[in-house]
Amino acid sequence: MIDSLLKIVFPPRCIVCKKNDTLLCDECSKNLRFEPKDYVCYPFIYAVSVFQVSTTLRLIVHQFKYKYKEYLISILSDYLLMTVDIYFKEQSDYVLVPIPLHQKRIDERGFNQAMLICETISKKRNYAICHLLKRTKETKQQALLNKKERKDNVSNIFEIDSNELNKLGSKNIILVDDIITSGETLKSAALTIKNLIPNKLFAITLSRGIK
Ligand SMILES: [Zn+2]
Repeated sequence: MIDSLLKIVFPPRCIVCKKNDTLLCDECSKNLRFEPKDYVCYPFIYAVSVFQVSTTLRLIVHQFKYKYKEYLISILSDYLLMTVDIYFKEQSDYVLVPIPLHQKRIDERGFNQAMLICETISKKRNYAICHLLKRTKETKQQALLNKKERKDNVSNIFEIDSNELNKLGSKNIILVDDIITSGETLKSAALTIKNLIPNKLFAITLSRGIK
């Protein structure tokens, strides 16, 4: 009821071409390059990305992340779920672990985008979410730094939350993040886990190599 009222007062517009009535029109969604792919990279068994980089994806993620439009996750959710269904079939074998944001960033943004992705998967497919990682330091935005600065910026910034270990058992861990730029944040998180916990590690991100 409220939803339909809102649609009358504020009809959704395509985020790319601004055409009315939909968040991403059929025409523009053709430019979202949905190409699920897995990469073998230490310390993961494999890491999966949902999309190839495209201007359309870049625009959606930018609006989502930096313009605080969390509802835009709905554009991506079907693609996310299709990818999860291909690569992580047995829901009971896995837990989703979001890359945590520093509390200050959450206060600014109002949400953690990695957590939104976890919730999207969990709601539709019943995967458990485990907040295994805590952020110990505030960091600068990776997108603003060069290669060496990125690595330094995110080294030793995570620790394990021991209160969450009981949720983990022997399940495989899927680390979840929105995008990989240099991959340093994801790697830093993965190494923190790998050094202390024997469970198998996987990752899923929307895309690789996008600022
Ligand atoms: Zn459009």
